[in-house]
Amino acid sequence: MVFDVTVDEEKCTGCEECLEVCTVNVLEIKGGKCIPIRVKECIGCRSCVEVCKEKAITVKELEVEMSETTRFLLRDLLSD
Ligand code: SF4
Ligand code: SF4
Repeated sequence: MVFDVTVDEEKCTGCEECLEVCTVNVLEIKGGKCIPIRVKECIGCRSCVEVCKEKAITVKELEVEMSETTRFLLRDLLSD
């Protein structure tokens, strides 16, 4: 699964609580605000969302786009 992490800079106070709970170090503080810098590493645990008192973080699951070839191969495999 692929996740997208966004932080509302207007709401973020730079408290660093989210950095403490993220086990894969997606987030960093830059210029006093939280920035998701390693979004690809996100495992979607939503611990950061829960810990953020300002409700500044959003974690969304993204649909993985499949190429035509992958779609074709999958259809082939599933029809066996
Ligand atoms: S927990 Fe929320 S307010 Fe604190 S740094 Fe993270 S995003 Fe910003
Ligand atoms: S959802 Fe989990 S892994 Fe993703 S940024 Fe938040 S704490 Fe880190």
